[in-house]
Amino acid sequence: MKLTNNFTLDELCHSNTAKLKKIRNNADEEQIENLRTLTIRLLQPLRDIYGYPMYINSGFRSQEVNKLVGGVPTSQHTKGQAADVRVENPRKLLSVLLQSGLIFDQAILYPTFLHLSYNTGNNRRQVLYAKGVKP
Ligand SMILES: [Zn+2]
Repeated sequence: MKLTNNFTLDELCHSNTAKLKKIRNNADEEQIENLRTLTIRLLQPLRDIYGYPMYINSGFRSQEVNKLVGGVPTSQHTKGQAADVRVENPRKLLSVLLQSGLIFDQAILYPTFLHLSYNTGNNRRQVLYAKGVKP
């Protein structure tokens, strides 16, 4: 299902780990609604400003998948509120995000991707840096 111009529900629910381990990674109605909101409010507007392809490394994760990839149990990925976005230059994407004025909850810069989350009603615009990544 197409959520916006550049993003589908399929890619936001895809998990290599789930595929490899043959386990389900299906989002329920509420999680899908959150994915839709994340995409419409944050991912697509950011994609439009950025102007280059953005690949989803990981969007929704079931508790089981989340555990397997070492995510914290409260991870926003399990609620459909977060996506790890891989681009050629994640630092540039972060700077585009900050200049855009777009509302977001958390942005965490990793060496090869940017973790982005959106939480309706509680968007903190918090920027964090993964271990070993310079601010
Ligand atoms: Zn993440």
